[in-house]
Amino acid sequence: MRHRFSLLLALLYTAAGFAATPPATHPRTMRLDYYHTGNPKQEVFSMDRVVLEPLPWPGDLQKAIDSSNLGNCLFEVRDKASDRLLYSRGFDTIFAEWVSTEEASRVSRTFSESVRFPAPDAPVKITLKARKDDVFREVWSVDVDPNDKFVDRSRPPSPGPLLEIQKSGNPASKVDLLVVGDGYTAAERGKFEKDARKFTDTLFATSPFREHQQQFNVWGLSPAADESGISRPSSGIQRRSPLGASYDSFDSERYVLTTENRTLRDVASFAPYEFVEIIVNGATYGGGGIFNLYATVAADNAFSAYVGVHEFGHHFAGLADEYYTSDVAYQSTEKRPEPWPPNVTAMHDPANLKWKDLVETGTPLPTPWNKDPYETFERDIQKQRKAIRAAGKPESEMEALFHKEQRAVDEMLGAEKYAGKIGAFEGANYEARGYYRPQLNCIMFTRTTNFCAVCRRGIERIIAMYAD
Ligand SMILES: [Zn+2]
Repeated sequence: MRHRFSLLLALLYTAAGFAATPPATHPRTMRLDYYHTGNPKQEVFSMDRVVLEPLPWPGDLQKAIDSSNLGNCLFEVRDKASDRLLYSRGFDTIFAEWVSTEEASRVSRTFSESVRFPAPDAPVKITLKARKDDVFREVWSVDVDPNDKFVDRSRPPSPGPLLEIQKSGNPASKVDLLVVGDGYTAAERGKFEKDARKFTDTLFATSPFREHQQQFNVWGLSPAADESGISRPSSGIQRRSPLGASYDSFDSERYVLTTENRTLRDVASFAPYEFVEIIVNGATYGGGGIFNLYATVAADNAFSAYVGVHEFGHHFAGLADEYYTSDVAYQSTEKRPEPWPPNVTAMHDPANLKWKDLVETGTPLPTPWNKDPYETFERDIQKQRKAIRAAGKPESEMEALFHKEQRAVDEMLGAEKYAGKIGAFEGANYEARGYYRPQLNCIMFTRTTNFCAVCRRGIERIIAMYAD
């Protein structure tokens, strides 16, 4: 009798549980927040918290394992009992960029980071790996018990209503892109919606996103800011904006990042998402993009469309910068190991060029182009660019300079013998020598409007990892 009673209870419980939560085949989203501390000589990882996010896992469980070999880091989730690999993804960190800056030679820093995965039923082991000599090696591992009472199941503060910018279907079979606003006051909610739709329209006007638009859902969230705008320390502007985005990241005036990862994750957990675009409410040229973390763009600049798509290329597909003539925060290295991004190469062996299958027979490798006049022209532009910023001139002067630059560069590159061809053109990845890009022009190289063929293929491979 007693047995039958508990069986009945168990059945009732299961039925009630089934109705209240998604079916067992469709788990919730679990997140590990941790701290990544160090300097160029030493790195330490430490546990912060495990969170059960409010929404179901937005991905396809059939596409749980990442075989793309992209990113400086890789995380793996394995069943503790059987060691079976349940989930993996490559990604990049702000730490990996910061550690090559001058600041890192003087001081250690701590960054909050997260990994998200389908909530498991039983204990798992999470392993973090870092790429060293082009092989992923374990740097940290931690056990997570999904049934631990300290798993944080609480509901974070609401960031406001979820905006449905484009709904193509079930999140599990679509790429889910979340557009988050930073520096928009409650009164500017309408402006955020307009800016978010503008970004979305630009992205899907660009190939190959255009051809794959129906494989994307796009969501919007914008926690209200007390004050309009975000921080820009080099102009003396300080704002405690909800997501903490700021210009001048790593002391590069146009580089917009946030290191408030915990806050960003709590806000983002109110949307199904795999990729995050942070739109900041500002007119000064700027943005940033980190593979599988987020991209940023300032909304109101004449070049916002270009910056938005370019930075999203970094974030979405791990594309490298193909440019090499403007200042960046990283210190140049003497070695030229083969970089992992799909669109740049050190080409140690032209016969095994990584995009060789796209090169027409008869195209020489490396592919010649008139590099010197381009570099002379660009050096002069960079000098003018610095002078405009140093003198605190209005943004319209910078925009006029960029327009003039793009017209001249389009003309120069368009007149090249191998214009439009796929080859290996020297000058890429911040270096004038020793790195090569696939085509003369690409949105990862200049402020043009198109991705090159190799970048397009890189993007399509990522879409296939998330959408049917
Ligand atoms: Zn490209």
